[in-house]
Amino acid sequence: MAENNPFEIAKKQIDIVAKVINLNDGVRDILKSPKRELTVNFPVRMDNGDYKVFTGYRVQFNMARGPCKGGIRYHPQVTLDEVRALSAWMTWKCSVMNLPYGGAKGGVICNPKQMSRGELERLTRRFASEISPIIGPEIDVPAPDVYTDSQTMAWIMDTYSMQKGYSVPGVVTGKPIAIGGSEGRGEATGRGCMYVIREATKRQGMKLKGATVAVQGFGNAGSVVAHLLEEEQGAKIVAVSDSKGGIYNKDGLSMKKVMEHKNKTGEVSGFPGAQKISNEDLLKLDVDILVPAALENQITNKNASQIKAKLVAEAANGPTTPEADEILFKNKVTVLPDILANAGGVTVSYFEWVQDLQGFFWPIEDVNSKLEAVMSKSYQAVADSAEKYGVNNRTGAYAIAVDRVATAIRLRGIYP
Ligand code: GLU
Repeated sequence: MAENNPFEIAKKQIDIVAKVINLNDGVRDILKSPKRELTVNFPVRMDNGDYKVFTGYRVQFNMARGPCKGGIRYHPQVTLDEVRALSAWMTWKCSVMNLPYGGAKGGVICNPKQMSRGELERLTRRFASEISPIIGPEIDVPAPDVYTDSQTMAWIMDTYSMQKGYSVPGVVTGKPIAIGGSEGRGEATGRGCMYVIREATKRQGMKLKGATVAVQGFGNAGSVVAHLLEEEQGAKIVAVSDSKGGIYNKDGLSMKKVMEHKNKTGEVSGFPGAQKISNEDLLKLDVDILVPAALENQITNKNASQIKAKLVAEAANGPTTPEADEILFKNKVTVLPDILANAGGVTVSYFEWVQDLQGFFWPIEDVNSKLEAVMSKSYQAVADSAEKYGVNNRTGAYAIAVDRVATAIRLRGIYP
């Protein structure tokens, strides 16, 4: 649907904040344009001996504040406009967290669930090779995203290093710890989201202990935030889902047991003692906290008025459309926007990159306490900004993020 084209949404979000912070028109136009886009079509030898051509993208949205940063996703529905939007969101995410990075994103159109490990390795290595002219520790540093993981990063790191002739751990983050990854990176997105939820409930005078929570999506972000909210904050997770459907129990679900079930069967559905629930109905549950942790465009003008949660924490990128944002704001639903709520991942990616460049690695306690400090500080800054301008948290966050990038552009000037 054209109205939910993610890149149109990303541009609209800039227009909204431009008015709030009185952004100069020329700078606004720069901030609506991806700096560099690479499309690659490349063959992969499949297990049956056939060659198959795949299409992939890497979009570098803006690098005024530092090297570009952002994940690579493997998904059948990847489009260039989606990758453009995600690269813009990475720019604002790194900026609002005050990380010295610009933003980028990559994607390959493929269905990793139907590919063997060997096929995925060959696809990853060839894609890494195709984009290698524009990645590197000082240019653009990929990381995991939807359906990619630390093994994917290990293959990219190795492919890039083979081309260079020496090991370059800082070319990607989210690597296995044994080859230069960081302690805590695996759960960082979920952990960061938990910290932001904790800070928001404190500021709003809401009790997190015993609060009811529904989580849409049970991947790296959703499963971890659900687990930590239950384990460390005493919240009650009443519903979770994955791409195949959801489960609900008003008395709460044990995340440890749900995770075991998912590891065994490949899905959360069929978990003993829980009712079936669709992904769409999960969003409308009467819970205190809703965590969309799957894909874009889940909360739209069609269902936003039915959201009953008091707090929506966006562990996914782009789950809420601008129209839905307006409805939620009017209904006094607090949204913790993606560029803040899921920024724990890229924050620990930054720590990983710093450790790689220094060749000096930190213990988990240091990683988590630094993550907690960055998440809490950024949340307070966003909530203050939203209050100052009388806008929702997304626009409050964008006001900080866009202003920082605009300042960098102004100070550097336009070449030549
Ligand atoms: N893919 C994650 C995100 O959307 C992490 C990006 C990174 O660590 O560079 O924020």
